[in-house]
Amino acid sequence: MTTRREFLKNGAIIAAGAAIIPNSFSINKLVKPKVVIIGAGFAGLAAAYRLKQKGCEVTILESRNRIGGRVFSYNIDKSENLVIELGAEWVGASHERLIAMCNEFGLELFNNQFETHLTFEGEYFPNGKWGYSAEWKNKFEQLLKDYANFTDEDKKRLDKMDWWRYLVNNGISERDLQIRNLLDSTDFGECIRHVSAYAAFAEYAESSEKNEMDYKIKGGNSLFAQKIGERIGTENILLKHKVTEINQADGKVDVKCANGTFFSADSLICAVPTYSLLKINWKPVLPSEKITALNELQYARICKHAVLFSDRFWKNNDFDMVTDIYGHYFYHATKSQPGKKGALISYTIGDKADVVSRQNDRFNAEMIDTSLKTAFGNVKDKIVKQVKYYWGLDEYTMGAYALYGTGQWYNVMPVLKKRFMNTYFAGEHLADWQGFMEGAINTGEEAADEIMG
Ligand SMILES: Cc1cc2nc3c(=O)[nH]c(=O)nc-3n(C[C@H](O)[C@H](O)[C@H](O)COP(=O)(O)OP(=O)(O)OC[C@H]3O[C@@H](n4cnc5c(N)ncnc54)[C@H](O)[C@@H]3O)c2cc1C
Repeated sequence: MTTRREFLKNGAIIAAGAAIIPNSFSINKLVKPKVVIIGAGFAGLAAAYRLKQKGCEVTILESRNRIGGRVFSYNIDKSENLVIELGAEWVGASHERLIAMCNEFGLELFNNQFETHLTFEGEYFPNGKWGYSAEWKNKFEQLLKDYANFTDEDKKRLDKMDWWRYLVNNGISERDLQIRNLLDSTDFGECIRHVSAYAAFAEYAESSEKNEMDYKIKGGNSLFAQKIGERIGTENILLKHKVTEINQADGKVDVKCANGTFFSADSLICAVPTYSLLKINWKPVLPSEKITALNELQYARICKHAVLFSDRFWKNNDFDMVTDIYGHYFYHATKSQPGKKGALISYTIGDKADVVSRQNDRFNAEMIDTSLKTAFGNVKDKIVKQVKYYWGLDEYTMGAYALYGTGQWYNVMPVLKKRFMNTYFAGEHLADWQGFMEGAINTGEEAADEIMG
C-alpha cells in the first residue's frame, strides 16, 4: 500500500513534468537560476532558504507588512508576556521537516497536547467521563485496520464520497456521529459533510496519536518565520510588494507589483493561496484546466476568538473542551506559559465562525459565558480582553486552509500542482500534509528542488 504521502510524492513528479521536461538548470548545473518567490508564508520561506543554500539569488515578494502568512503569533498580555496563536497552532509529532528545522534554528518545542472535556446536550463531561460507544470504537478500529490494506483504487473510490456519508454507511450511531462531527470539523474547518472521506481517513489513519496536535514553538510559532527570514536575508524579502501581474516569455519571468516595482527572474515560485493566485493577471493566461481547478477548491472558515481571563479557572494546564454550542472548541492557548491570567481560544468553524466573527465584544462575552457555564458557572466577569481573527475574510486567503471536498483530492490537487512554463507552485493546499505548516514547507522545498533539477 502506498501512503497518502508516498502517492502524492510520485504524483507530484509526474504532474510537474520534471521527469519529462528537464529545465535549463538541470542541464547546465553551473548556471545558478535567479528566482522570484511570491509569498513569505512557510512555503515561500522554505523555498527561498533551500535555494539560498544552493547559491541561488532569491527575492521574495510579500504583500503583507509581515512574514509568516497564516502563522501569526500575538502577545495578548504584555505584562505577563502571554503569546497566543491566531493562525497555525500545533506542530505534529510526524512533522519531520518542521521539527528538524526548529532544531537547526535553536527553537524549543514544548508539549501542547490536551485532554478533552465535553459539553453536550446541556451536560458537562470532564475528560475521561465521556467517549464513543463501545460498538463504534470497535468498528472504527476495524475500519482503520481495513484502511491499512487499501489499494490506490480503494482510496480513489473513498475520495468520491464525503466523510459524514462514509461514517453513516458504516453504521455510526447518531450520538457518536454528532460528537465525531464536532471534533473532526475542527480539523477540517467545516462540517464533515463537506470533506472528502479519503482526505479525512488518511489524516486519521496516518497521523500521530493526537492527530498532530503535539507541540508548539516556545515564544510563538512566528519565531520560525523570523529565524528562517534571517537566514534568507531580510534584504531579500520585500514586504508590501503585492504581485499583480506575471509575464512569461522567452524562458524568463517578469513580475509586476501593485506599488509599481518590477522584477525579472529565470524561474518563479508562486506560493500563495488559490484566492490570491486567481487575482494575478497571468500573461499568457493560465491553462483552462488549472483555472477550473482553482475555482473548484474551497477553503475552510475558521475564527479564532481568544479570551483573556483574570485567572485560569479551568485549572488543568492541558484543558480543552468540545461543545455543541456556539463557542464550539475551547483550548488553553497559554498552556505552560507562567502567569496568573490565562487565555482560552474559542475555535469556531464554518457558519459558526462566520456568525462569531461579526459580533461585538459584548455579544461574544455572553456567548462565551453561555458556552462555558455548564462546566464552570458564570465566567463573564473574569473576561479581561477579547481578540479575534476571522480567516474566512482574510484579504489574501479568504479561508484558513484548503478544504478538499468529494472527488477533489485525486482530481483537483494534481492539476493545481502542475508547473506552468517557468512558474512552479507551492503552498499548503498542494501538500501531502495539507492544512499544516509541515505541508507548506514540504511543497516549498519540492519546488526549489524541481528548479535545481
Ligand atoms: C486558523 C488556522 C489554524 C491552523 N492550525 C494549524 C495547526 O495547528 N498546525 C499546522 O501545522 N498548521 C495549521 N494551520 C495551517 C498553516 O497555517 C498553513 O498550512 C501554512 O501556514 C500555510 O503556509 P503557506 O506558505 O502555504 O501559505 P500562507 O501562509 O498563506 O503564505 C502565503 C503568503 O502569500 C502572500 N501573498 C498572497 N498574495 C500575494 C501577492 N499577490 N503578492 C505577494 N504576496 C502575496 C500572503 O500575504 C502570505 O503571506 C492553520 C491555519 C489557520 C488559518
